[in-house]
Amino acid sequence: MSVKAEIADILTRLGVNSASYTSGSTKIISPVTGEEIASVADVSAADTSAAIDKAHEAFKVWRNVPAPRRGELVRLLGEELRAAKEDLGRIISIEVGKITSEGLGEIQEMIDICDFATGLSRQLYGLTIATERPGHRMMEQWHPVGVVGVISAFNFPAAVWSWNAALALVCGDTVVWKPSEKTPLISLACAAVFEKAAARFGDAPDGLLTLLIGDRAVGEVLVDHAKVPVISATGSTRMGREVGPRVAARFGRSILELGGNNAGIVCPSADQDMALAAIAFGAMGTAGQRCTSQRRTFVHDSIYDQFVPRLKAAYKSVTVGSPLTTDALVGPLIDTRASDAMERALEQAKVLGGTITGGEKIDAGYPNAHYRRPAIVEMPVHEGIVCEETFAPVLYVMRYIDLDDAIEKQNAVGAGLSSTIFTLDMREAEQFLSVAGSDCGIANVNIGTSGAEIGGAFGGEKETGGGRESGSDAWKAYMRRATNTINYSRELPLAQGVSFDI
Ligand code: NAD
Repeated sequence: MSVKAEIADILTRLGVNSASYTSGSTKIISPVTGEEIASVADVSAADTSAAIDKAHEAFKVWRNVPAPRRGELVRLLGEELRAAKEDLGRIISIEVGKITSEGLGEIQEMIDICDFATGLSRQLYGLTIATERPGHRMMEQWHPVGVVGVISAFNFPAAVWSWNAALALVCGDTVVWKPSEKTPLISLACAAVFEKAAARFGDAPDGLLTLLIGDRAVGEVLVDHAKVPVISATGSTRMGREVGPRVAARFGRSILELGGNNAGIVCPSADQDMALAAIAFGAMGTAGQRCTSQRRTFVHDSIYDQFVPRLKAAYKSVTVGSPLTTDALVGPLIDTRASDAMERALEQAKVLGGTITGGEKIDAGYPNAHYRRPAIVEMPVHEGIVCEETFAPVLYVMRYIDLDDAIEKQNAVGAGLSSTIFTLDMREAEQFLSVAGSDCGIANVNIGTSGAEIGGAFGGEKETGGGRESGSDAWKAYMRRATNTINYSRELPLAQGVSFDI
């Protein structure tokens, strides 16, 4: 069966109307084979606005549904995702090129956040606060905020939606989703799965979830719309630089999840087998197309000549090929632009004195697809292209002597998403995690930069945008806080001892 026929088969099984992926003028290409697998139509600006209005009306109903009941919808969504896991994972492999276990892993992450959000629906706590006035009570409440606009990137085309949607829905918000223009098919599938959950739920208002297929122009309508109080935007730092100020200009709230340039430090005492396995997955997994992919590694001078040859050997031996027909560990790059960007980065690294292992194009049997062997580049300097995110499997490796210096270099880039240290020395580990250590939103010890669990808040600092999604108290960004003071006395004392006798 052709890939095009297979995807049509899966989408039909999931209940997606065939007109939505066969009748548009935007062609969707599988990065695995380079062939056209579908065509979709972009939604117009007028329809986008109308959809937001409808989501706003749905919000007025949904906010009144008790939160634990809202949690029931998300629980059902989790059940439907479990039932559709294989199909959804396969769509991700076809549309994004992830290997099977990573495609399925992405769906598992969605199931996990549904479980988390279901429990959360009974835990949207506010504080009771000591008040200085007798006969008063002060407390805070968390209320639903409105329509949450979700703009997502191609590389986690389904999970990013679910991190936002599962929380937003239990928080009493409605969701308008603008997926990446490169991955409309998995979003159509997710919307169909959501509809199944909503049908089982029974009395969900129309407009709880709206999918808007289109490019950045559609995203811009969402970004500028006064009835969308929260924009959660995941993608490049370039995108965040445009979206952030536009949302701020209308006093909206944005949750920005942008690019990373994640580093790891391998210390003299490191468990080198563990470091090797973690870096190999962190840097080569998903063909280097994770926001948390490891892109820089600092190796202590005393173990460099032992550790780096092993890493290079792993790069030479890794299997690259179709995730649909082989058990290769590294699949294709998403498109020509990504492949060209990798080529350019390697050229620039070479000019700076880098020694490259790998990086060459690989013939996987599909002339229109872009397969490359992951590249490891030994760098004599930490500057230029090393300090930028290239969304491809390129790992820069540098020697270090002094840990302070390695941490300073690790922090000396625009992005601040994920970081790790490999050490068995607790002083080094604690220094790395301390106030003077890693400046990233994610700082790990003895595990890789990528592969976060949903229980923790996910996001990063600086040019990564500062947003937090998923676990911990990230839910607060999807609600508005009201501080309430109630006077049950017969007096009217003013705060701070102010008197105002009339
Ligand atoms: P991208 O920035 O090209 O596109 C992301 C989304 O933003 C798409 O839906 C796109 O249509 C939309 N968009 C772009 N410009 C816009 C604008 N001006 N207004 C409104 N919407 C706009 O990113 P991509 O290539 O799809 O994804 C790769 C990037 O995403 C990498 O930089 C990666 O690090 C980052 N990323 C970050 C996280 C995170 O959680 N921090 C997660 C995944 C990906």
